[in-house]
Amino acid sequence: MEYRRLGKSGLQLSSLSLGSWLTFGQQISDKIADELMGIAYDAGVNFFDNAEGYAEGKSEIVMGKILKAHHWERESYVVSSKVFFGTENKGPNRVGLSRKHIIEACNAALKRLQVDYLDLYFCHRPDKNTPIEETVWAMNTLLQQGKILYWGTSEWSASEIMEAIRVARQYNLIGPTMEQPQYNLIERNKLENEYLLLFKEYGLGTTIWSPLASGLLSGKYTSGEAKNTRLDMKGLEWLKESALAEEKLAKVKKLQVLADDLNVPLAKLSLAWCLKNPNVSTVILGASKVEQLKENLTTLDVLPLLTDEVMENIEKVMQTKPVLPQF
Ligand code: NDP
Repeated sequence: MEYRRLGKSGLQLSSLSLGSWLTFGQQISDKIADELMGIAYDAGVNFFDNAEGYAEGKSEIVMGKILKAHHWERESYVVSSKVFFGTENKGPNRVGLSRKHIIEACNAALKRLQVDYLDLYFCHRPDKNTPIEETVWAMNTLLQQGKILYWGTSEWSASEIMEAIRVARQYNLIGPTMEQPQYNLIERNKLENEYLLLFKEYGLGTTIWSPLASGLLSGKYTSGEAKNTRLDMKGLEWLKESALAEEKLAKVKKLQVLADDLNVPLAKLSLAWCLKNPNVSTVILGASKVEQLKENLTTLDVLPLLTDEVMENIEKVMQTKPVLPQF
């Protein structure tokens, strides 16, 4: 395993990590979840990602039981949660980024995960109705209480992150260390354009999500091998519609040819491509099956194959590179 610093912070994360969205407490059994975490940990994965909103709190309960059952030393792993979407009981003060919800959500996540502190705590989305100043102060209260070690954002705009950094500096507080954006061969703008100044000037770290665009970039939807998948799950019709758009499927078909030429599974090529970006601190893997995780965890082998020429060929097929101003 390779370890990377989370931006300019002192914390090191495995470049491949494991997340639990839609799987833990929902799509897969607790037994499979246990196996996945065991396989990941044994392969050197040290970061497990979670959120209050995943399976309405159940994902954290499942992960907490697994962490406890394995007796892994607390120093050997990093665990996260995220606040914003609430759990099953929604209500005016049970969602969002008010001081009240942030403090209550953190305490509840600690109980569900059965840990004394969260290493990473994310604001899962921006809250347009709460002043950023209130959120920055609430995160710093949790830092001071030792309940969280680093805080960050997820899917915030560059200007919202910048405002959080400004507020933190104004009051000598600690600003966001990391952001959790979507990043894959299709969705690239935040990482490759919008956040560039944040990386350069403030050393922002990133824990990127959906590196396979929910499985599309494994090639199984174009090869006809997709059975019992996330995109067949009830309630996820919106995701299926967007993930399996004609234009995307056509590009993935061409990408498959490149992967075949290199003699590597497309999933590994797609994941390795994410790792090529030095502003990615960790690629969060998702898996519903043990075989998928085992395959994905060998992604680092593919990195040496991604020569400049191969990267250029990928660009020609995808044509998703953000256009930056010319100087
Ligand atoms: P991916 O885009 O990599 O999708 C993972 C899914 O793709 C798996 O569950 C599986 O689904 C399928 N898959 C994975 N590997 C393979 C393979 N080798 N061959 C075939 N199919 C494969 O990542 P996720 O969308 O799961 O995101 C990863 C993590 O990021 C989440 O668990 C969560 O922690 C975080 N996240 C954060 C968000 C945020 O807003 N901050 C939003 C979304 C995710 P199946 O078998 O069911 O088809």
